[in-house]
Amino acid sequence: ILEMKNIRKAFSGEEILKGISLSCKEGEVLSIIGPSGSGKSTLLRIATLLEKAEGGELFYDGKAIFSLTEGQKKQATKEEKEEAKKLFGLVFQNFNLFPHWTVVKNVMDPLIHVQRKTKEEAEEKAKAVLSQMGLLEKAEQYPYSLSGGQKQRVAIARALALEPKILFFDEPTSALDPELTGEVLSVIRSLKGQKMAMVIVTHEMTFARDISDRILFMADGEVICEGSPEEVFSSEQERMKSFLGNYQ
Ligand code: ATP
Ligand code: MG
Repeated sequence: ILEMKNIRKAFSGEEILKGISLSCKEGEVLSIIGPSGSGKSTLLRIATLLEKAEGGELFYDGKAIFSLTEGQKKQATKEEKEEAKKLFGLVFQNFNLFPHWTVVKNVMDPLIHVQRKTKEEAEEKAKAVLSQMGLLEKAEQYPYSLSGGQKQRVAIARALALEPKILFFDEPTSALDPELTGEVLSVIRSLKGQKMAMVIVTHEMTFARDISDRILFMADGEVICEGSPEEVFSSEQERMKSFLGNYQ
């Protein structure tokens, strides 16, 4: 469903991504781990078209969104990009809920404005996903009255309501207290096996090991190692070993 090839990006002359390639198949769970500053968020921002790459290629469902190689500089049309955006959802570290809207309105809004559903359809769908997230009784409350874990579950509900084929998470629990992290991780776990692919940037190593079909370890803008959780966690690669050492 997703393919990124040789992605390159620099900020003010400094190379942040030095040719990153990754792919994610339908239904697959891919975790991206690596030290702070290694370029993980930048990579997700490029995958979700929030940021432009300087080189490399991005494909959704085999269709090129951009192709910036030696010989060619090709971009998909605006319409093609809008089409691709319907395939994915994104959940950030800081929830990004609208504070002056109720929980249910937060979830309904993209259904109405992106998917052009009627208010009734949107409300029905929103309530169904809120119920799946265990939050139906919070539907009419405002974000300030929720715990951090509940806010993040609302953000996940909002993304899920759009029925993405691939859902990106950028450190979904790093703004949460340890007691609240568990409830969000278990919600994410519950999404596995529903044929939606997930790409998860996380510092939760135990979680990454449990949930992932594949793990990719990045450092200094490069992929250092990639494979099944067993392969990555037993890697003899020095960078990988010292990174994991910090979590023990
Ligand atoms: P963390 O684990 O802390 O979230 P990360 O792996 O997500 O780190 P990025 O946020 O992708 O890392 O940042 C990689 C590097 O790019 C950092 O050195 C950061 O300062 C730099 N960077 C990111 N965004 C910008 C920007 N818009 N302008 C300038 N530099 C940036
Ligand atoms: Mg980041």
